This record gives sequence, structure tokens and C-alpha cells, in this order.
Amino acid sequence: MGILEELAAKEIKRRDFVKLCTAVAAAFSLPAGFAQDIALATEKAMKKPPVVWLEGQDCAGCSESLLSTINPSIAELVLDTLSIRYHETIMAGSGSVAERALEDTIKEGGYVLVLEGSIPKADDRFCMVGGRNFKDIFMEAAGKAAAIIGAGSCATLGGGIPGATPSQGRGAIEFVSDRSKVINLPTCPVKPSRLVATIMYFLTAGKAPALDQYNRPTAFYGTLIHDNCPRRNHFEKSYFLTDWNDPKQKDYCLLLKGCKGPKTYADCPQVWWNEGANWCIGAGAPCAGCSQPEYYAGFTPLYAKQDTIDAGKIDIDTIGEVAVGVAAVGAVVHGAVRLVAGKDKK
Ligand code: SF4
Ligand code: SF4
Repeated sequence: MGILEELAAKEIKRRDFVKLCTAVAAAFSLPAGFAQDIALATEKAMKKPPVVWLEGQDCAGCSESLLSTINPSIAELVLDTLSIRYHETIMAGSGSVAERALEDTIKEGGYVLVLEGSIPKADDRFCMVGGRNFKDIFMEAAGKAAAIIGAGSCATLGGGIPGATPSQGRGAIEFVSDRSKVINLPTCPVKPSRLVATIMYFLTAGKAPALDQYNRPTAFYGTLIHDNCPRRNHFEKSYFLTDWNDPKQKDYCLLLKGCKGPKTYADCPQVWWNEGANWCIGAGAPCAGCSQPEYYAGFTPLYAKQDTIDAGKIDIDTIGEVAVGVAAVGAVVHGAVRLVAGKDKK
């Protein structure tokens, strides 16, 4: 079934689909006409955009994040209608049937490989699937992949929580020879809107969007949380929360409670989670820095002030300059990605 039939079956209007495509184009700062290209490419590709989804050392939280979107959202629709050939958590097949589907897809080549969870660096035996070590399975799939997407903190950069264990889990980029094939989408878990927009961009453009030094799309990871935080005013006035139970402090800056916002690049303050419901600092929790390479081991303990980002040591003027530099881009991306996230959905 193609995308148009899927839209009709789920009673989703085509104009909403085009709205999503427009949002994707705007998120990546593409010319206006590119939205139509995205719509056409996605419609065409929907017939056969193969995706292989591998899970290494993970909690399946990133899969859960994608599957738990509210309503049959358009983001969910796009993911549903991708040809996911192999996904250990959601596929109907099992045993040799499932393994054959993986083998056949790998033989074909040209698929998007999504890695969820980390790959053990200390010893391959820390992660075995069906009697094989996971690193071999990943490397085999990585060889013929058109693109490799590291989904979530564990599959990217420092390996997230498994990176802090004796297995020394690490993300895809540490293992592949051609690092240019890797697109990293860290956060714990992966944010569905970022994954959907990245896949749609890749299907249309045939290449990765602009990436930063950690292979993260700059559209989503180009701004510092601290520069866009609604509690920034309290930070400037040195109103720091010290007592969770004091109602007067409820909106104070969370730096002394371990907030990593001054070191963390992500669009979380602009594009909230769970289809615009809220985000970490909005809910009163300090940013854990889950989009950064230091997460998890380098940022623990999560709820204690870190010396390296002590209020007295932060150069507020420098942070301000960064804020001015990204403000214009941030404003455009903010509006656009809200749509992908479903924030503006009626
Ligand atoms: S330290 Fe955290 S809570 Fe305080 S202003 Fe910065 S990002 Fe916001
Ligand atoms: S606000 Fe911080 S901890 Fe929360 S999802 Fe964004 S980067 Fe991760």
C-alpha cells in the first residue's frame, strides 16, 4: 500500500502530510519548493524504502518512544509505512524466518540502517544475538547500508548508559570505517520527530543533512539549551533552586541541581517532547545532557552540581554571543520543527 492509500485508510488528510513535508523542509532550511520534492520522494519511496533496525545493548526505550506517539500521528504513519524489514521488538516473524529477512535485505543493499543501543567495545561477548556477537551482525549490515542512523544516546557518541558499564558500549560511529555514512541522533530516548525528519530528508536528498563535528544534524543540535532556557532569567540573577520542596523556588535555575544545559546542544527548549506536551526543564528536572558525548559517565551524578559548570565559572558573556549567533536560525527551526513534533496539531 502506498502513502496515499495509507493516508486515506488512517483518515489523515493529504494536506497534513504536505504540512509535515513543509515542516521538514523548513527544519533543514531548504527552499520552499523542496517541500513538494519531499512529498513526491516520500510517496514514491514509501513503496520500498527498506529499513533495518538493529538493537544492541539497549532498553528498547527508543523503539518505545517511537511507538508511543499520541494518536496515529503523521510521524507514526511515516514510520509505519517504511518498509521495516527487520526489527527485533516489533516484527511479526521470528527465528529463521526473521533472520532470512535480514540476510535478504543485506544482500540487496541500499537500505537505511538504524542502530538502537550500543556495541560493546571491551569484549564482543557482552552482547550476543542468536548465538552471534552483535558487533559482527552490525558490521555486516553496515557494509551495504546507504546510511547509518544512530538512534538515541547509546547508539551514538559515548554509548549512553551502557558506555558507563564494564562492556564499554559505544555508538556506531566508533566502529565503521566510513564515518560519513553515519547520522547521529542522540538523546535518551531518540526523539521521533528528529528521526522522521532525518529519514525523509535522506530519502529526498540522497544524502545526510548538514552535520556538526559529532555527526548530529545542526538543525536539531545547533543551539545551546542554556541559551534558550525559560529559566535563563533566573540564572542571570543567580536565583538557583536549592530546595525542591520550596514553592517559591519552583521556577528557579536548576544549575545547582546538576543541570547540564550550559554544555548541551539540542533544540529541546524550542521543540518539546511527546508531541509538544513538555520537556525536561519545563517539567522541573535538570537537563541531563543526553545529547552530548559526555553522557552518561561524564555527567554523573546527574543531580549534583558539577564543578566544571559551576555558576561562578561560566562566562556569561560568551554564552550570550553564541545566543545572538544562533537566534535567527533558531527561530526558523523552532517554528518548523514544532510542526514535525505535532506541537501545533489542532
Ligand atoms: S543552568 Fe539549566 S535551568 Fe539554568 S538557565 Fe541554564 S539550562 Fe536553564
Ligand atoms: S533537555 Fe537535556 S536531558 Fe532532556 S532530552 Fe533534552 S538534552 Fe536530553
